[in-house]
Amino acid sequence: MMILFNGWPMSALSAFDTARFYFDQAANLMGLSDNMRELLVTPERQIKVQVALERDNGEIGTFIGYRVQHNSARGPMKGGLRFHHDVDEDEVLALASLMTWKTAVVNIPYGGAKGGISVDTKDLSIGELERVTRKFIDEIHDMIGPDKDIPAPDMGTNAQVMAWIANQYEKFHGYSPACVTGKPVELHGAEGREEATGRGVITLTEALLQRHGQPIEETTIAIQGFGNVGSHAAHCLHEKGGKVVAVTDAEGGVLNKKGLDVPALILHCEDTGSVKNFSDSESITNDELLAADVDVLIPAALGGVLTERNAGDVRAKYIIEAANNPTTPEADDIFHDNGIIVLPDILANAGGVTVSYFEWVQNRQHFKWELSRVRQELDRILQDSFEKVWRLSQDKQISLRVAAYFLGIGRVGRATVMGGI
Ligand code: NAD
Repeated sequence: MMILFNGWPMSALSAFDTARFYFDQAANLMGLSDNMRELLVTPERQIKVQVALERDNGEIGTFIGYRVQHNSARGPMKGGLRFHHDVDEDEVLALASLMTWKTAVVNIPYGGAKGGISVDTKDLSIGELERVTRKFIDEIHDMIGPDKDIPAPDMGTNAQVMAWIANQYEKFHGYSPACVTGKPVELHGAEGREEATGRGVITLTEALLQRHGQPIEETTIAIQGFGNVGSHAAHCLHEKGGKVVAVTDAEGGVLNKKGLDVPALILHCEDTGSVKNFSDSESITNDELLAADVDVLIPAALGGVLTERNAGDVRAKYIIEAANNPTTPEADDIFHDNGIIVLPDILANAGGVTVSYFEWVQNRQHFKWELSRVRQELDRILQDSFEKVWRLSQDKQISLRVAAYFLGIGRVGRATVMGGI
């Protein structure tokens, strides 16, 4: 079925319009006024800066960096920093708005933001990556900070990049570890932050499967993306007895119907930089992975991968959106028609920002938590959030996505009205 949005076919829409489409589905149900919708979807600030550096070979490299601060009604703005060649203003805006609803769904005291640099990190040496990161912070340091906007890792960035960010920010503002999260544990990072998004994805997958009477030990899973989120999700699943049968990354993919040896695959990936050519497996493409005969499909790489073109081929019964914005509205509609249950990104991958919140709390209190406490608090918040979204979806007979947006928009809307404009 062709879905129209403002008279245009959905496939012609931008990433932000797609995010807006999901927002409107819930806003319609809530009876939100046009004025309130406009206030809630409009970003508070959009920053676009030149990031120039001297390359190792003496040439000048010029990149564009973005930070979108979407909404601060519920607290300082929070969101990842993505280094990827596809990053543009529209994508960052879409992802910043998702952060606003996500922090509200898990009820942590933040608003939403997102940032990125349009750069292919494979083209940069380690030294160049460090200089790009520091230059970006030179440009935006007075617009971020522990009480304003706190970056974190996303695609193409990691704990090392966060360490450079903290170090560069502190050159201007003095000791301030809470200015960024996802830092190395040796530099005020939280135990359990690196695993948090993937671990959270599996905690929520298990909660969803339980509601459908499906034991995780009897569940087969395919995962697209084997970076921070995908590899930790796979490891966590493996520990719980689930069977990861297929995995792809940017270089290729592998399948073993009897189940991949996940710890060995992680080592193979550390050694070679990719999952491809892993022993005891056959090669598969991304399209084959998305159509794999499994119970659960976990997109954990790029946005916009599940579309009208391939949604009809998906055979999984459950889709867990570990990636941000992986499903177009047209694909979402096909999944609904085919009885496939989708756990939406603004809940499914919220484990990362939740443990980022714990890191920020620890930095501000100068009091370090044990890993066991981090995991316990994370499980509590995610299970409680899942329960609220699940109950709302059952009570109102709406999808989990609409229920999650309903919960998030309601919280942000009430804070906005109570605080005043
Ligand atoms: P990452 O950079 O660590 O890993 C990305 C993975 O995706 C890599 O394995 C890469 O090879 C793979 N990939 C890239 N292009 C691909 C393609 N065309 N086909 C198949 N695989 C491809 O990134 P990450 O931190 O794991 O983030 C993955 C997703 O999860 C992103 O959508 C991100 O926004 C989302 N997310 C991340 C976090 C976090 O804490 N890191 C939190 C919430 C959401």
